[in-house]
Amino acid sequence: MSLNCWGPCAGRASGRRRGKKAVVNMIDGSSSSSHNKQNEQNKQEWRGIWVIAEQMGGVLSTVSFELLGKAQELQTKASDGEPVTAVLLGEDGAALEEMAAQLAGYGAQRVIVAAAPELKLYQPETYALVLADMIAAYRPSIVLIGATGTGSHLAPAVGAKLKTGSKRPTAWDARLNAEGELVAVVPAFGGRVLGDILCPRHRPQIASFKPGVLVKPPYRQGAEAVTVRYDPGHSLQRDPGRVKAIGLFREEPEGLPLEEAEVVIAGGWGMGSRENWRLLEELAGLLGGAVGCTRPAVDEGWAGEQQMIGTSGKTVRPKVYLGAGISGATHHICGMKDAGLIISINKDEKAPIFQLSDIAVVGDAGDILAGLIAAIKQGGVV
Ligand SMILES: Cc1cc2nc3c(=O)[nH]c(=O)nc-3n(C[C@H](O)[C@H](O)[C@H](O)COP(=O)(O)OP(=O)(O)OC[C@H]3O[C@@H](n4cnc5c(N)ncnc54)[C@H](O)[C@@H]3O)c2cc1C
Repeated sequence: MSLNCWGPCAGRASGRRRGKKAVVNMIDGSSSSSHNKQNEQNKQEWRGIWVIAEQMGGVLSTVSFELLGKAQELQTKASDGEPVTAVLLGEDGAALEEMAAQLAGYGAQRVIVAAAPELKLYQPETYALVLADMIAAYRPSIVLIGATGTGSHLAPAVGAKLKTGSKRPTAWDARLNAEGELVAVVPAFGGRVLGDILCPRHRPQIASFKPGVLVKPPYRQGAEAVTVRYDPGHSLQRDPGRVKAIGLFREEPEGLPLEEAEVVIAGGWGMGSRENWRLLEELAGLLGGAVGCTRPAVDEGWAGEQQMIGTSGKTVRPKVYLGAGISGATHHICGMKDAGLIISINKDEKAPIFQLSDIAVVGDAGDILAGLIAAIKQGGVV
């Protein structure tokens, strides 16, 4: 990875979603190998946009639909004539073909399914091998993968096999530049700048997005996709089988999941103590919301890792987000910037979070939250 240049921010520029300076990074596989040289020379042969769809037990993950929305948007700009293609791996070909219809509704024009008993559960080595072989055979220019528990392993593993770059799973957004190359926008240098990440010399260009970062497109009833069956047999024969998943165990979350809450009450380091933290929980309880947090609140032990919002945590789009004692670091705001109404409480009137807040309250978080709770209990505030 090499630092290329500094320039004006190329990130989201709409209204309150302000940007910062951007740094352009190039991510590419090692340029020394002959494979890479060949890859570089044949760049024009890599065409089209793929979405690696994810399913578990026959249920497609929402991030697959979100990626299809982005793929359609990119396709309208990249006039290479290739269909938006979703790729689906699993055990049962007939079940996968049924899921293909759902993917068509969200914008897939072609669905390539690879079915085999070995693909029943997500197997890190096996999936990476099969997908790398599929990609090498079809040569898509862009591959989008969900940065889920499985996709976060899969994206770099496939990238390494193909000796190309894989963009970090913290991208806020992606677009095409004037040359038709994929540009992923990510927070960099501890969140102080936005980075444009490109993979200009090698193909495919792989980018992964966390669930909730991209917008799910509307479902189009009756939309159809061409379904193609791909035989993964030759890849499976080469599977070294060093790592094997043996079962799937699901842990049910306690309470209202953060990403489903319409009201998120978030706290940061400025909450100051566990006692103050309870005010957030009480307010969330009164409003039927969920409590979210920043990294320092997890470090302090006030909240659990699963409550963290941001690049290393969850992405939320509640109707109302209230953040108290939060400065507004890029790593946090990329997980909540698309909330409907953003209310922030901070004792520092220059806190960066105020730049993207609809309502800014300057003052001590503990005092203001306690007052708000008392008012709600008296029936004065809804
Ligand atoms: C690779 C990487 C990934 C990261 N991922 C994440 C992530 O996913 N999510 C995340 O949140 N962070 C993440 N971080 C950390 C992130 O960069 C910030 O450090 C963090 O978000 C800051 O949290 P904060 O706003 O709670 O704390 P601070 O930045 O310390 O801000 C505290 C704020 O509280 C205010 N304050 C203090 N006392 C009071 C008071 N009594 N009343 C009101 N306001 C008060 C202060 O004015 C200040 O603005 C990541 C960092 C790195 C390097």
